[in-house]
Amino acid sequence: MRSDPLIDAHGRQIRYLRISVTDRCDLRCRYCMAEQMTFLPRSALLALEEIAIIAERFIARGVRKIRLSGGEPLVRRDIGELVRRLGGHVGTGLDELTMTTNGTRLAQHAVALREAGIRRVNVSLDSRNAETFRYITRHGNVAEVLDGIAAAAAVGLRVKINMVALAGLNEEEIAPMLDWCVAEGHDLTLIETMPLGAVDEDRADRFVPLTRLFEDLSARFALSRDPHGTGGPARYWQVDDSGTRLGLISPLTANFCDGCNRVRLTTEGKLYMCLGHDDQVDLKAALRDGGVDALDAAIDGALAIKPARHDFSISRGAAPAVARHMSVTGG
Ligand code: SAM
Ligand code: SF4
Repeated sequence: MRSDPLIDAHGRQIRYLRISVTDRCDLRCRYCMAEQMTFLPRSALLALEEIAIIAERFIARGVRKIRLSGGEPLVRRDIGELVRRLGGHVGTGLDELTMTTNGTRLAQHAVALREAGIRRVNVSLDSRNAETFRYITRHGNVAEVLDGIAAAAAVGLRVKINMVALAGLNEEEIAPMLDWCVAEGHDLTLIETMPLGAVDEDRADRFVPLTRLFEDLSARFALSRDPHGTGGPARYWQVDDSGTRLGLISPLTANFCDGCNRVRLTTEGKLYMCLGHDDQVDLKAALRDGGVDALDAAIDGALAIKPARHDFSISRGAAPAVARHMSVTGG
């Protein structure tokens, strides 16, 4: 079995795999999905066993961190089994297995996630106000998410809140959200809305540059730069003398691609090397047609075409940078 490291054509080593385990979701956040979405037929999806085999090839070749995402990962019926299988690698091949979830089903799953080896979860929470939350998600119930977050914290999972900054919707809630995170011991990451997939609205109308928000937050909180990096898009700050870390993901106003160490597997087995490009390699076909050797060869082919950088821009009336929604490649 091969164990040679995954190094792309720009000399970057791939250490981080994100897996979208389903493109389906129980919410319809306005910046993420259209109200009427066509999801993949179940027959197109990777089986749990195939996801595990692919993930294990990445682990054997040096991936140290896997994040399960979607769509909403906790709506996939066999998610518990996958988490247990991959969780078995934590401490040996993997440093960390994590999940990004909308939190609606977190209360039911928190204990099982913790027992399987997950130690941290990212939970999307764009508003703690019931009406605003319902508007942004089109029909979500914020109480379920807050219960899920409390359940996760109660079993010892570290929680990071993901909040997409949305002009005229939750801008005023950002400083209070940071206060709440400090009080609850959570981290907070603010995200600029990205032009991925068609939605029913023009994202430019809701776009908030995080540079502006950061100035406001700096005036209210003592923020000191935290050098911690994940090879990803976020830049981090420590908040006051709390244990809370503030992260900013600002792909539109700051490019972060030089240190990129990640690739993304879709629920139908396509490997995307960049969120902002369409190049992909079909790992499902390679595995089904040629087994693990063909899978390794396909992964090599993918590395060779990983782009140097994304080139997102956002402007009124412009088409999305790519037609895929974030839920396909896993945010
Ligand atoms: N359903 C889960 C959730 O909401 O956390 C996981 C998948 S979701 C696609 C992952 C993250 O991507 C969420 O934090 C969400 O807010 C973010 N996201 C989705 N679409 C986005 C977009 N167009 N621009 C920026 N962030 C987006
Ligand atoms: Fe679903 Fe997450 Fe997209 Fe919201 S951001 S619609 S919860 S996948």
